[in-house]
Amino acid sequence: IQSKLPDVGTTIFTVMSQLAAEHGAINLSQGFPDFDAPAGLVARVHHHMSQGMNQYAPMQGVPRLRESIARKTADLYQARVDPETEITVTAGATEALYAAITAVVQPGDEVIVLEPAYDSYVPAIQLSGGVPRFVPLTFPDYRVDWNRVRDTLNGRTRMIILNSPHNPSGTVLDEADMAALTALCADSDLLILSDEVYEHIIFDGRPHQSMLRHPALAARSFVVSSFGKTYHTTGWKTGYCIAPAPLSAEFRKIHQFLTFTANTPVQLAYADYMEDQAHYAALARFYQAKRDLFRELIGPSRFKPLPCAGTYFQVLDYSAITDAPDTAFARRLTTETGVAAIPPSVFHHDGQDHKALRFCFAKQDQTLARAAEILCRL
Ligand code: PMP
Ligand code: GLN
Repeated sequence: IQSKLPDVGTTIFTVMSQLAAEHGAINLSQGFPDFDAPAGLVARVHHHMSQGMNQYAPMQGVPRLRESIARKTADLYQARVDPETEITVTAGATEALYAAITAVVQPGDEVIVLEPAYDSYVPAIQLSGGVPRFVPLTFPDYRVDWNRVRDTLNGRTRMIILNSPHNPSGTVLDEADMAALTALCADSDLLILSDEVYEHIIFDGRPHQSMLRHPALAARSFVVSSFGKTYHTTGWKTGYCIAPAPLSAEFRKIHQFLTFTANTPVQLAYADYMEDQAHYAALARFYQAKRDLFRELIGPSRFKPLPCAGTYFQVLDYSAITDAPDTAFARRLTTETGVAAIPPSVFHHDGQDHKALRFCFAKQDQTLARAAEILCRL
């Protein structure tokens, strides 16, 4: 069979989690908590299941959840979005990213991808016949070089994909980035796909620069988020996309035939839980404490932590330990040392390797302590 994605193998998250399980390694690779979801939220799912809410939700998502999302968006980002026409609930952010790309990218269209880039973007572009145009983030501070972005723009550029807080680097866009992006957009009809799944996991009091805060940018954006990150429920695979009505209409044409709809009792439970607005600040504090703990625990080791302003990932430079490629080191660390991490070179089209690994700190303190103790022995 002729592959439609000849260069694509199995996603690194499955590869590393499987390897960690096979070797009994502490799994700091794939991003998910090793602690449970809030009991109250689980109870709401039980409640809705037991009340017979077990059939298809509307294609666009449960109305009450879309209304909650609109309220949150107004409260946090001062943006008015219409739950009827501008919000679509999806089977995780992964589905939303795929649907947004597929909805607008035509054969030959170019899409600007900043690298390192989350691994689901490029295959979706390629399946649509689009052409990814890679622009590297600066190293080692992982900032967007807006001059390089501008140099890449041309008449075929359809979309730019942004991700803040950024996986894997943990960097965030700031006001200056938004000003540069606004200036760039002023001269073009570029669309924006903004992956904001870590919108509430941002540290040291920084504001999250959602596209929704900036009306000129929101008017051309698909903004994607995920409840999995916000409520410690990655396995429930529920997210959403906010976009202006004409873009949402195209988005829904794909969504309705990709998954049609997302899990009904889970949507209802999130709608109940979203009443608690204090959760967002508490979540940021919770993960900031884990970031600080992990960085402190790793202090005596030969790993050097890079800055981490958001997400639940910490990048550690290992160049003082070995000059092995990151994929080889990640494998050895998992199979021989007993701690699994993600090699960021897989997020570069050319396999660029910066002698650093990504560690997930969405783990119980004791898990982080056990992992750090092992890493400090290297
Ligand atoms: N984008 C980024 C940057 C992510 O890190 C993730 C989750 N790992 C996703 C999208 C996908 O989110 P979901 O699990 O809701 O599909
Ligand atoms: N987003 C998670 C990560 O970056 C993993 C998601 C997945 O396994 N597809 O680790």
